Amino acid sequence: MAVDFDLTPAQRKLKYEAREFAHEVLRPAAAAADALADPQQAFVAMRPVYEQAAARGMTTMFLPKEYGGGGASNVDFLIAIEELCAVDPGFPTVLLVNGLALLPLLTFGTEEQRETWLRRATGDERGGFLAGWAVSERGGTANFDHPSPRAGIQLLAEHDRKRGEYVLHGEKHWPCNAGGWDLGGADVTLCVVRTDRHGGGKEALSAVLVERGTPGVEYEVIDKIAHRTCQNVTMTFRGARVPETNLLAEGAGDLLINQNFTWSGPIAGIAAVGVARGAYEFTLKWARTFTGGGSAPIIGHQAVGNLLTEIASKIEAGRYFCWKTAHYMDAHPGQGHALGGMNKTYCGDLMQSVVFDCMRVVGVNALDRKFPMAKFYREAAVFSLYDAGNLGMQRRRAWGVMADRAFTPDTFVDGAALPFTRSMEGYGVIAEQR
Ligand SMILES: Cc1cc2nc3c(=O)[nH]c(=O)nc-3n(C[C@H](O)[C@H](O)[C@H](O)COP(=O)(O)OP(=O)(O)OC[C@H]3O[C@@H](n4cnc5c(N)ncnc54)[C@H](O)[C@@H]3O)c2cc1C
Repeated sequence: MAVDFDLTPAQRKLKYEAREFAHEVLRPAAAAADALADPQQAFVAMRPVYEQAAARGMTTMFLPKEYGGGGASNVDFLIAIEELCAVDPGFPTVLLVNGLALLPLLTFGTEEQRETWLRRATGDERGGFLAGWAVSERGGTANFDHPSPRAGIQLLAEHDRKRGEYVLHGEKHWPCNAGGWDLGGADVTLCVVRTDRHGGGKEALSAVLVERGTPGVEYEVIDKIAHRTCQNVTMTFRGARVPETNLLAEGAGDLLINQNFTWSGPIAGIAAVGVARGAYEFTLKWARTFTGGGSAPIIGHQAVGNLLTEIASKIEAGRYFCWKTAHYMDAHPGQGHALGGMNKTYCGDLMQSVVFDCMRVVGVNALDRKFPMAKFYREAAVFSLYDAGNLGMQRRRAWGVMADRAFTPDTFVDGAALPFTRSMEGYGVIAEQR
């Protein structure tokens, strides 16, 4: 295909419908929810918005049509996500996490698991179906592919062969959506577990589907400074039993983690772009009208004009990098591990400074909570840290691919296939010292 950044008529429609939803439905609800002191109340306050999003097919738009989903391409999903994030990035994180929980079933799950969970998600008439994705742990997640069984993922799933079940002991810390609307659990949560006490991260990890209401699982909400319209919890397992038919990716949990955070890379990237765009839109209006006590709007000052030019350039560049990454992933499903990591780290880190540059243009009034800049600043702090932190997890994956001789500087510009292999894992973990 020729290089073409034009949106199709269907994509333009998607963009402006998402924008209308963001302005009319999301904006007022998110502003009210963000102001609530209790984090669970903030999340629950978003339920009517979620139900309306579900009625429009947004909450499962990325699932294949074959299972009742919207069949949206990665590029299409990004177009919608940018519009939502320009208003509030917490709420679209709920949609992103539905994807992180359900899409692995396409690659690693059984047909029975797909038929059960993808159809429940897409066929939910209440519009409240939630799927959680639980990989992160309190002791740290960045070294999940460490060769020592004492490092990385520690949530243990022991096989009780007699009863045909796995028994879970341990904790997850930070999973999104997992507590559900009432802290009784999401409809289902995909949990990365250790199924072998003695193996390293490249052979001992698997995943299990933990259904809502499973005895022995408790949820406690984390009170975070930003993205308050999505829910993060600590999930504690005390002898929780799940049927062995709920196991997937046996011994391949490491590959599942890497594939998941590759898929979400450009989504988190465009989320950062969306927040920066929201800040930029406000800033441009401000610069065209506010005089700073002078006799003309501040956009007339060269210093302001120069900084606005830089802000706009970085947003434009970031957006097209995200589109390119998503386009590559559409062409090569399950690949793009380096590009996803580069895209997420580049946009996540850069857009935080773009938001701060917007504040520099606005001036001291950017700190006044009655204007939106203070919220954009809080929200932008999330992007380098969540969805596999930029400093460790995301960069290590890109680094591992680049170290492989199959990778060349032309790989992505040529749109060449580059399957991810285990030999690309484990870069940057420090082996145990004697
Ligand atoms: C809004 C939001 C939503 C989230 N949703 C989910 C979710 O749905 N499910 C879920 O499981 N988690 C979720 N998280 C957690 C998130 O994915 C984290 O990115 C993840 O837990 C990894 O954290 P970390 O990168 O800081 O790793 P940690 O292991 O906590 O590492 C901390 C820091 O140590 C350094 N470090 C450690 N090891 C290395 C290394 N080998 N090389 C270089 N640096 C290293 C890095 O600087 C890293 O930043 C969410 C978080 C937020 C804020």
